Amino acid sequence: MSAQSSSKAANSKAAASLGAALMAAACLFTGASAQAQSGEVNLYSYRESKLIQPLLEAFSKDTGVKVNVISASSGLEQRIKAEGASSPADVLLTVDIGRLEEAVKGGITQPITSPVLDRVVPPQYRDPEGHWYGISMRARVFYVSKERVKETALTYDELADPKWKGKICIRSGQHIYNNALIAAYVTHYGEAKAEEWLRGVKANLAQKPSGGDRETARDVAAGKCDIGIGNTYYWALMNDKEADKKAWADATRVVLPTFKDNGATHINVSGVVLARHAPNKANAMKLIEWLAGEKAQHMYADMVYEYPIRAGIAINPTIKGYGTLKPDPTPVASIAANKKAAANLVDKVGFDN
Ligand code: FE
Repeated sequence: MSAQSSSKAANSKAAASLGAALMAAACLFTGASAQAQSGEVNLYSYRESKLIQPLLEAFSKDTGVKVNVISASSGLEQRIKAEGASSPADVLLTVDIGRLEEAVKGGITQPITSPVLDRVVPPQYRDPEGHWYGISMRARVFYVSKERVKETALTYDELADPKWKGKICIRSGQHIYNNALIAAYVTHYGEAKAEEWLRGVKANLAQKPSGGDRETARDVAAGKCDIGIGNTYYWALMNDKEADKKAWADATRVVLPTFKDNGATHINVSGVVLARHAPNKANAMKLIEWLAGEKAQHMYADMVYEYPIRAGIAINPTIKGYGTLKPDPTPVASIAANKKAAANLVDKVGFDN
């Protein structure tokens, strides 16, 4: 070994040990935050864990980030609020614009800055201030009797037409899904017309609003009514996955109704918010952006039976069988602005009585 090369070796040895020392110092220095960013993300979810587990497993496999899930069917906003600045919540995953808005109003969110999401999520399906982003879509549609309804095209407007007297089944007008539909009607036509419409719909009800969306198909199948109102994924789940309810799907078919004024179908979103005090913000953003990515969007379409928010993703064949969806371009945020008016109208006309 020459003198030169041995000195080189000594230098590189010194460099290596300096590097190690620096690294050790860096580790000490960032000890606290390294723990917070230790490859985990805490997800509070309103979605059934059975539905989202495969998604989260795929995320962890792709990124190495572990997802801790807290699932509940209610009260997650309140919980995050009560936990305050020490809340472990990073991301809240929820359905319906109503819940997304409640999270924002509750002060438990922070704005998301993501050019990736802005590119993928159309502006009508996200908060203009960035506090929530839609990541998949559902439409509110009609489950009609195969036997008794011959129409293939129907409008929300004509639910008030006396020709459907005694023929309509629907869950409570105050349920978030119907609240959003009625709010959309207000957004399209104004409050006075919406009131008139809602009175007309009430006059056509076969029974007091009750049950859930699946039960409207059950009641159509039983001959109690001809048109049930429900979300797109329930019918597909009954048809494809729920053997005990297959008969309800068999007796009905899905019509994608439209608003008369623009010929488009009412859309709601499921979406995400970034928690205000997210302790693992970087991983939270990883998760949120991953959910809008191609793999997750495929999984949403195939397993969760929702319409992907991202363009160019194949729709589940059963959902596709409903026909070509023309989504209402009305921003869901402007529909949300009429939620209170919609709730008041439901009370005013005694819709649920
Ligand atoms: Fe649902």
